[in-house]
Amino acid sequence: MSFSHLGLSDKVLAAVAATGYTTPTPIQEQAIPHVLARRDVLGIAQTGTGKTAAFVLPMLTMLEKGRARARMPRTLILEPTRELAAQVKENFDKYGVGQKLNVALLIGGVSFGDQDTKLTRGVDVLIATPGRLLDHTERGGLLLTGVELLVIDEADRMLDMGFIPDIERVCKLVPFTRQTLFFTATMPPEISRISEAFLHNPERIEVSKPATTATGVSQFQVPCGREVHEKREILRRLLREAKDLQNAIIFCNRKREVAVVAKSLQKHGFSVGALHGDMDQSARTAALEAFRKGEIPLLVASDVAARGLDIPAVSHVYNFDVPHHPDDYVHRVGRTGRAGRAGTAISIVTSLDNKSIAAIERLIGKSIPRAEGDYSVRSEASDDTDQPREARGREGSRGRSRHGARDGAKEHSKENPREGSRESSRGDRKPRREREPRHAKGGDRNSTPQPHAANETFTPPAPPAASRVPSIGRPEQRRPQREADSEPADHSHLPAFLLRPVRARV
Ligand code: AMP
Repeated sequence: MSFSHLGLSDKVLAAVAATGYTTPTPIQEQAIPHVLARRDVLGIAQTGTGKTAAFVLPMLTMLEKGRARARMPRTLILEPTRELAAQVKENFDKYGVGQKLNVALLIGGVSFGDQDTKLTRGVDVLIATPGRLLDHTERGGLLLTGVELLVIDEADRMLDMGFIPDIERVCKLVPFTRQTLFFTATMPPEISRISEAFLHNPERIEVSKPATTATGVSQFQVPCGREVHEKREILRRLLREAKDLQNAIIFCNRKREVAVVAKSLQKHGFSVGALHGDMDQSARTAALEAFRKGEIPLLVASDVAARGLDIPAVSHVYNFDVPHHPDDYVHRVGRTGRAGRAGTAISIVTSLDNKSIAAIERLIGKSIPRAEGDYSVRSEASDDTDQPREARGREGSRGRSRHGARDGAKEHSKENPREGSRESSRGDRKPRREREPRHAKGGDRNSTPQPHAANETFTPPAPPAASRVPSIGRPEQRRPQREADSEPADHSHLPAFLLRPVRARV
């Protein structure tokens, strides 16, 4: 089957030919004729199947006729994240060459005024995240009563992100008679319910079983202890020892962990970027662009930031954390092995993840084998000396090994000072100043007792025993009680006059 049999316009076919694509993917082949026939479509397809073009190409064909009116977009595409919205816009730019269509992006983090100006000029295709879209409608700058076609993309992601009430509100603002295209990678019961509410007698198209991982992806798990430093060490080894690694996405469950893991890898000499929801838009775009262009081969990311992004040819996916929801596993692994390519997905698994792994294996219908090779962390005092404060979060406090003053001191010298007060309040770390100068004279630093002031306040280094003079008004017992104080002092190097008792003047 070629594109020319699908009913697309000549302009669109020319644009497709210019991209070099010769054969439609299964979702394109099945969905495009129905979209052109103005049918509602329920598309169950993973990212990487070509689903974006499955709605962009017929939309471009249909939009060749007619004109946009001010503040009344003709079509509306809802996306869960700004990156996905921007990606869909890129598809319109790519396939819409030769057409004078107005395509507008309504996403957060971008000036309201500019978006408003665009809406005033009239928009053929409006691509929006739900929040920003509703902001515009509430301000009265946007009317959705002219929408002929509504696309709800990544619906299961919208559900995860709590956008369903917003989508329901949007659906009340668009005409009842519109055409609706609804895409989801998985079909949990809630998505089934809303698809019934939003779609009218839809054509159901399923290009692969819901929640399956692509067959070209080799999946492995690597067992790991619960310590977060062990995970980082295993990750580094996996990265160093990987065969055919061109680029990789490393997934973490929490935004905070994304920043920590990225920083840690950087410190160990890896070229790495980070992508998580708390980064501002320009930083997110810059990281993604650098990764896309191959300037940085590794991207540490959270689910929200990475879901559905079109990053071609990712060779490896690493789950630094096993996702809590099995659906997320499918999405993460879907970043590799796209468009029929081979890929590798490796999950670092602690004993706390056993339930999650079992749920994932149930969902994907196969077990995930252990990776070959010994990835056990060899010593407790790992070489993971870069641990910034944030890293000592959940896992760290759950029974962190006391891996010696050496690791602790080194760790501390590089940590993020902003997190200091929070860390101190946990009572298991000490403020930076207290730890730094102590071992300047060498010796066995591991065996040097660490003074531990219970109140976590700054304790200055004690002066040499012989020069300690009880000062007036300063009770002796307030002197820092250090284990070292009780050791007999060696005074042989001091001049005699310093050893004479001193009487305080009254
Ligand atoms: P999507 O599932 O829309 O994120 O698309 C995944 C990737 O497949 C993108 O990089 C597309 O450019 C690419 N793609 C889309 N359609 C085709 C096609 N017919 N043949 C080959 N690659 C395609």
